[in-house]
Amino acid sequence: MGLKFELLQSSERLLPRCSECRLHEQCKSPKMPPTGEGRRRILVVGEAPGAEEDQCGIQLIGKSGQFLRTEMRKLGWDLDRDCWKTNALCCRPPNNRTPTAREIDACRPNVFNAIRSLKPRVIVLLGNAAVESVIGSIWTQPVGSLTLWLGRRIPLKRWNCWACPTFHPSYVLREQKNPVVGVWFRRYLEQALLIQEAPCVPDYMSQVVCEMDASKAAERLRKQKTAFAFDFETNRLKPEHPESQILSCAIADDSGAIAFPWQQPAIDAMSHLLRSDIPKVGANIKFEERWVRRLMGYPVRAWAWDVVQAAHVLDNRSRASNLKFQSFVELGQEPYDQDIAPLKVSEGGNDENRLRFADWSKLLLYNGLDALLTWHLAKRQYQKLAQERRK
Ligand code: URA
Repeated sequence: MGLKFELLQSSERLLPRCSECRLHEQCKSPKMPPTGEGRRRILVVGEAPGAEEDQCGIQLIGKSGQFLRTEMRKLGWDLDRDCWKTNALCCRPPNNRTPTAREIDACRPNVFNAIRSLKPRVIVLLGNAAVESVIGSIWTQPVGSLTLWLGRRIPLKRWNCWACPTFHPSYVLREQKNPVVGVWFRRYLEQALLIQEAPCVPDYMSQVVCEMDASKAAERLRKQKTAFAFDFETNRLKPEHPESQILSCAIADDSGAIAFPWQQPAIDAMSHLLRSDIPKVGANIKFEERWVRRLMGYPVRAWAWDVVQAAHVLDNRSRASNLKFQSFVELGQEPYDQDIAPLKVSEGGNDENRLRFADWSKLLLYNGLDALLTWHLAKRQYQKLAQERRK
């Protein structure tokens, strides 16, 4: 991960690690550069050159590429004129075998260099290897199954473009007995091609105020008169242990987020809000509800929305409902929990985690981002569900 991170930070041309992969020693068109005119600023990323591509030095001209070309033409697009084409691997693997994770990693600098120099508006990711190449370096957890990513339009702030994963055309060809795959393939492709605008990803971090002074936090909390999202960071998963403690809290709305340590007089001000009629939003609200009931002795009043429950209604793919994942694929917020996640781990729900050893500024920023992203996701989900109802 360290290496991937360095790759992302540098603004210079990145160096592929061909000596680790060595596929260039065995193929006819080694280190194939991107081809295509890219008139509509779309970059199509495939898996790796096959026999025909290796022979001619041009991507996607074999059977699966021709299938993609035909499908795009049906949608009114020209693969070679409207798009640029590249692959997760620039060199052909022997007998078209599936690229290894190591090869994808070693070749990733080529893909990133292509993105940086071509500046596409949309990147269409064909299948697992393409997703692993582009998303696998940003999403810090294992990318896992392609299913989780299919059909999403992920705003990528760093390149000011969208990443749109779909099936690899060779899979669609192999699954012809199952026409559903073809239907989804076309739908995802069309959704990607129809994107008109560059994504707009705000700098969420700059919208979080970390307030160490509990009196100042209380002053701000007393001004809250409209709906808000809130989130706790705690020293255990479960509040029933006698030493369970809330460490910090954050609230957020359109004006941004404020995060503060769980101390008086902020506790009193928050307590007043929690019992008020002001609508409240959370991510997995049973957690906050259980902590408030146990530690404060009353239920939260006026829950309005849970972004985790709403995610299950909108998209029931497993792993898709968690806050970090939704924040990435819906809002374009790249993972922000690198410093905090290792400290949140504990053996069991009743065991203490190590959050009290966290740097407070990092913990509050993390807490504030959780609340802020929860707020923005809730608004987005509400609009999506309203649209569904109108259909
Ligand atoms: N040809 C390519 O260039 N890429 C693929 O992914 C498949 C065939």
